Parts: sequence; C-alpha cells; structure tokens
Amino acid sequence: MTASPMKRIYFDHSATSRVLPEVFEAMAPFYTERFGNASSLHSFGREAKASMELARKHLAALINAEPGEIVFTSGGTEADNLAVKGVAAYKGRSKGHILTTCIEHHAVLESCAYLKRFGFEVTELPVSKDGIIDLGEAEKALREDTVLVSVMAANNEIGTIQPIRQIGALARSRGIPFHTDAVQAIGKMGIDVKRDNIDLLALSGHKFHGPKGIGALYVRKGTRIEPQIHGGGHERGLRSSTENVPGIVGLGKAAEIAKRDFASTTESMKGLRDRIIQRVPEVVPRAYLNGHMTQRLVNNVNFRFDFIEGEALMLQLDMKGIAVSTGSACSTGSLEPSHVLMALGLKHEQAHGNLRLTLGRENTYEEVDRFLEVLPGVVSRLREISPLNEATAKGAREGGSCVQ
Ligand SMILES: *Cc1c(COP(=O)(O)O)cnc(C)c1O
Repeated sequence: MTASPMKRIYFDHSATSRVLPEVFEAMAPFYTERFGNASSLHSFGREAKASMELARKHLAALINAEPGEIVFTSGGTEADNLAVKGVAAYKGRSKGHILTTCIEHHAVLESCAYLKRFGFEVTELPVSKDGIIDLGEAEKALREDTVLVSVMAANNEIGTIQPIRQIGALARSRGIPFHTDAVQAIGKMGIDVKRDNIDLLALSGHKFHGPKGIGALYVRKGTRIEPQIHGGGHERGLRSSTENVPGIVGLGKAAEIAKRDFASTTESMKGLRDRIIQRVPEVVPRAYLNGHMTQRLVNNVNFRFDFIEGEALMLQLDMKGIAVSTGSACSTGSLEPSHVLMALGLKHEQAHGNLRLTLGRENTYEEVDRFLEVLPGVVSRLREISPLNEATAKGAREGGSCVQ
C-alpha cells in the first residue's frame, strides 16, 4: 500500500460524465448576472434568448439538423418520452403499432408499455447473440398500422451500434417516422440526421460532458408530434415551461466541444478500449466480451467473468478506487439481471457476472494499466469464495449472494 492518497479512476462515463471546465464557465453567468427569462422582452430576456439560440445552433450543427428542429427537454428520458408518446398521441389516437427492440433504454420501453395500456401494440425485435437487430426481421415486423419505429443508435450497456441508417431508410420508404435514442452515441460516433434518415432523435447533456437535467429532441421539419407537457407554449408549443437557460447554454457548449474535439477524443477512447478488450482475457481466464467486436461504441467495454457476480467485482474495484458498473441488478434490490444481457441469450448466472467500463476523453493509459494490474487479483479472490465455482465446496457460504 502506498501512503499517498488514492487517486480515483472513473470508468463509468455511460452513467454520467464530468461537466468540462469550459462548459461550467459558459454556464456560470446565467445563474448570476445574466439570469433573465428567455421569454421576457427586456434586455435581460433578450440576452438569455440570444444565448439559448446560439446553443441551439451548436447542438443542431453536431447532428446536421436545423436549429428550428431542436426542442430542449429536461434530459434524455423526457426526449424519449416525447418522441414515443408524442407520435403515438398524434398519429394513433388510441391504437396503432410501434416497432422497437428488446434492448432499448427503459425510457423507450416504459413509454411503450404505458401506451399498451391505451390499446397500442408493441413489437420488440430480438437481437443476435452479439446484440444487433436483423434488418430482415425489422422489415417483416412492419405493419399497415405501424405508427413509429424506435431503434437506439447505440446501447448503453454493451455499446452495440445498430444499423440505424438502413432502419431509417426502411421506415421512410413506408412513410413511418423513425426515432432513435442517440444518448450514448453523441460524441462517440458520427450522427447525421439527414444521412441517417432520422425523424426524431433523443440526446442528453450529462452523457457528453454537459450538465444533468438538460437534453433535447430533434424533430425533423414536418414530423408531427403531440406535446406531452402543456403550458405557456415554449419550444414552439412542443415543450412548455420556462427554459433552463444555464443548462441549455451548457448543452450548447458541450455540443460545440464534442464536434470540435471529435477526432482526437474518439481516437483516444478507442485506443484505451482496444487495450482493455485485448488484455483482459490475457490476464484473467474465462473472461468473455459481451456485445459486438466491431459494431461497438469507441468507449464501451463489457465483459462477463465465469463464477463471479458483477456486483461483488464492482464493489471490490471501488475499494481500490476504480469506478465501474455492472448490469447485475442486485443494487436495485431485484434479482433480475439486465434485460439487455438476457436478450443476448445469456443464462442468469452469466448475466450476473458482468462488468462494464465506459471510457471518457480524460482517461489515460496509466489508468487502464492500473485497472489491468488490479483486476486479476480481485477476480481470483472472488472466485475462491464463489458459490458459483464448481471447484469450491458447495454451500460453503450462505447469504450475500444474488444468484439463487
Ligand atoms: C442515460 C440514458 C437515457 C436517459 O437520459 P437522462 O438525461 O439521464 O434522462 C436515455 N437513453 C440512454 C441510452 C441513456 O444511456
């Protein structure tokens, strides 16, 4: 043990990311002297409004949209809700069919589940064992009464990238609006709403170094949605409530930086990702990569380890100052493993032994090497005491296990 204080390592950027200093500096005046309401007609209001519109331009530029196609929301969850429920309410009234996938974020899946209560029908496309949907199956699943296709650009747990351009083209050929949850994709892969045939796109500030509690829905000109929050008619009537000006300014600055630094940051994250993916199976036996080898976000690593609970591994690494995450659901008080890992066809105990590392622009090779140094010892200690390990005495340990 070293005497110096432990420097913590953060490998959980898909959960949230740090507000960059430039972003923080851009936001700060909007909490203090530039506090105006963007709807006010006096100079305070006009100042807030102008900064908000500049942010809208930066955000639009990041995804090749027009500024007038951006609707600010309270985050990715609200943007997904507005897209799914907004189209359903406009198009279907109380019936119609929605095509989505079984590995969507809960913001999409739960919005669809909610709509089912009102008579909508929902098809959740399965994925292959490496987490990609099949275009042929998507085409077969479309119906006369399909009102919306919703397929995420990239998955938050296993980082798989879906063929959204082709799905978008398919939906467009049938005149069906196409929504994509791009919360994890922004800043990590190129997204172009025109090239990718996207009608609705959800994003979230805190997943790419902007603040929490701010996001946006891109709504292609001509795509009709019903607002889900009614009031003073802000955001062209699509999302009422006094705009979160500091948050919007921060989101705009984060977008500007994501575009400016795209080449260097994605290359750096990819280098770290590939090192971890290559080295982990070399230093730890019986470690398997979840997700796709190449159709994968530059910052996502997701491994499963035989005979280990992801939860325990995560806690052990945390004690060593390394923050990672797991799809194992013990932390939420449920024994159900992640719906995404189960969709890959994994057994319960396999899905429980999982570890996710999501890299950020500020991570370094030194940090990766520290992780690779610590991991084997932690894994072998956990395996020694694991009730899952056939090699250890059965029933040697009671309780504390999340696999029954
Ligand atoms: C984080 C996340 C969301 C939710 O975004 P919030 O801004 O936290 O509400 C939605 N979809 C995906 C894929 C996410 O990773």
